[in-house]
Amino acid sequence: MAAPSALVLKCPRCGEVVPHRVLRGKIGGKDEIVFGGVVRCSKCDAISNVVTREPKPISVPLVVSWLDRSEKTSLEFAPDEDVTVGEELDLGDTRISVTAIESQGRRVDGAPAKSIDTVWAKRIDQVRVKFSVNKGNRTVPHEVLAAADEEFEIGEIVDLGRDRAVVHHIRTERRTLRQGRVRADEIVRMYGRVVRERTSR
Ligand SMILES: [Zn+2]
Repeated sequence: MAAPSALVLKCPRCGEVVPHRVLRGKIGGKDEIVFGGVVRCSKCDAISNVVTREPKPISVPLVVSWLDRSEKTSLEFAPDEDVTVGEELDLGDTRISVTAIESQGRRVDGAPAKSIDTVWAKRIDQVRVKFSVNKGNRTVPHEVLAAADEEFEIGEIVDLGRDRAVVHHIRTERRTLRQGRVRADEIVRMYGRVVRERTSR
């Protein structure tokens, strides 16, 4: 493991808890992560020898749901790090929100990572937008995958694979939009109709 380029430490000279640049050092340790090396205080420039120890992260079982699927994986936490329901976390490239925690066989609102059996979470970086599309004599339900902060606009044309459809109005929890735009994660349902394509040959 490579030594970090900086560490937040209490300076032995000025007493401030500030970032210290690592001049040289190495990481070791078996049950803990031990750093030993030479650092420089960003406040007073004092150079000092330090040894720091922190517990190794632990792997907590994690069940992530998205759309109709759920996937078992795991996430690393510091042993004493508190995990709470509603908290948002990064899982690789995706963003998740904690929906439930089981600790020592019981559902809890929060617990230190070391006492957690399983964390349940859902992906919040992508959402499924319901889109009812009128195709002349019938209305067909579609679903459009979108980033949570992606916006849909009245009049916009949405690609549905075989068809393209124009958005007529958008219903959210509080209102129905007939003009303007709204974030994907606020949409309850969009309504529109298929756009006839002109093909020139
Ligand atoms: Zn200092």
